[in-house]
Amino acid sequence: MHIDIATLLIGMTVCMITMAVALPAVMGEVNQAARRAQAGILMQACGWALLLLSGLFAPGSLADLTASSFAMAGLAGGLALNATAFDLWCGRPAHDRAPAVIAIVLPVGYAVGFSSYAFRVGWANGLLTLQMALVAIALWRKPAVTVGRWRYLLLFSLIGQMVVTAGRGVLGAFFTESYPTFLAPHPINLAFALMANATTVLSLVAILLAHRDEAARELQRLATEDGLTGVLNRRAWVASATTALSLSERHGHPVAVLMIDLDHFKRINDALGHDAGDRALTFVARALRAAVRSGDLVGRYGGEEFCVLMNHADLQATIAFDARMRAFLGEAAKGELGFELNYSAGIATREGVEDSLAAMLKRADDNLYAAKHQGRARTLDSAGLSVHDTITRSSGNYAAIAAASG
Ligand code: GH3
Ligand code: MG
Ligand code: MG
Repeated sequence: MHIDIATLLIGMTVCMITMAVALPAVMGEVNQAARRAQAGILMQACGWALLLLSGLFAPGSLADLTASSFAMAGLAGGLALNATAFDLWCGRPAHDRAPAVIAIVLPVGYAVGFSSYAFRVGWANGLLTLQMALVAIALWRKPAVTVGRWRYLLLFSLIGQMVVTAGRGVLGAFFTESYPTFLAPHPINLAFALMANATTVLSLVAILLAHRDEAARELQRLATEDGLTGVLNRRAWVASATTALSLSERHGHPVAVLMIDLDHFKRINDALGHDAGDRALTFVARALRAAVRSGDLVGRYGGEEFCVLMNHADLQATIAFDARMRAFLGEAAKGELGFELNYSAGIATREGVEDSLAAMLKRADDNLYAAKHQGRARTLDSAGLSVHDTITRSSGNYAAIAAASG
């Protein structure tokens, strides 16, 4: 059986062009990561098309030089773009500049040293190998978000391509007579062409999986987050708080719920507009998030009501938290929003193993209701006593909330 390298590479290029056209067509509106992946595939497809086209020109001619130098720019530029997409999909900012630098240096050096076949083949394949190694190392690093197995597909593709590309570089640079053109039927070249076909398929699968992963993450975020303030929505808060309560039962640590309702919020909306109301809600949510410890849960329970589940917190710790929030709002709201903001709140601590989240929420709500009745701007604890006046302001913690809530 005769396997023809040109046919293999033409087939692979056709597949890549098909991918470059089909991906944007089927993926519809996408975010930056997927757009970069699509653009990267398009650049690589153009690179391969140009490389094949260069084979039609007289070897060493200006047309050959131009087509193959741009081909190199397409291959290396495409991979650099794809690398930034992989970074984004792994939850990291696309800060790594090294693959992009290689994508610039490679075609320039290639064009300058074009007259020496051994140099240009060694240079191009050597730098492409280095670029793939850098991208593979970045992919190997632990992602900042949970990602699926597409990462391993890409790693496998990159390592496979690296091995055969390095082989081509060594052949061209040091055994030039056995590798006079990139279509020469050398076993390494054959391995390269087969690998290129396989990795094209793997990359397509990996890109679609990465895109699906990200869409699932986004759906999960939308399902659990409050759209305006970014804290947990009611359903997600209740689910997480139920889990936290079971853990507190099992391990015997205290847990408390603080239910907050902003005072006279309707007046803010009526007097200053809905936008001002929205800004106030976002501000309070940010302050709550900045003030809680990790493991505590902040949720938007209703329109201008927030719930905080405080893990490992007894009544005193909850009162102290409430004091920090009051101190912060008292000092920062006017400056940040242009108007004062106050709230009433009810506290419920877990009482014995029989206590449930529903019962705690009911007590917190009753205390909140009583706080409103007693004149607002206060917090009532489980015994129905106002804790508002017993608090001294804690300026250290206030500064921390101020810094974190911007
Ligand atoms: P009280 O001190 O008794 O709690 O009075 P209040 O005005 O805060 O309470 P009321 O329940 O009468 O009004 C709550 C208001 O919160 C009414 C509603 O328009 C407003 N609200 C609810 N959700 C949002 C929102 O997402 N954005 C804005 N701007 N306002 C909201
Ligand atoms: Mg309310
Ligand atoms: Mg209110």
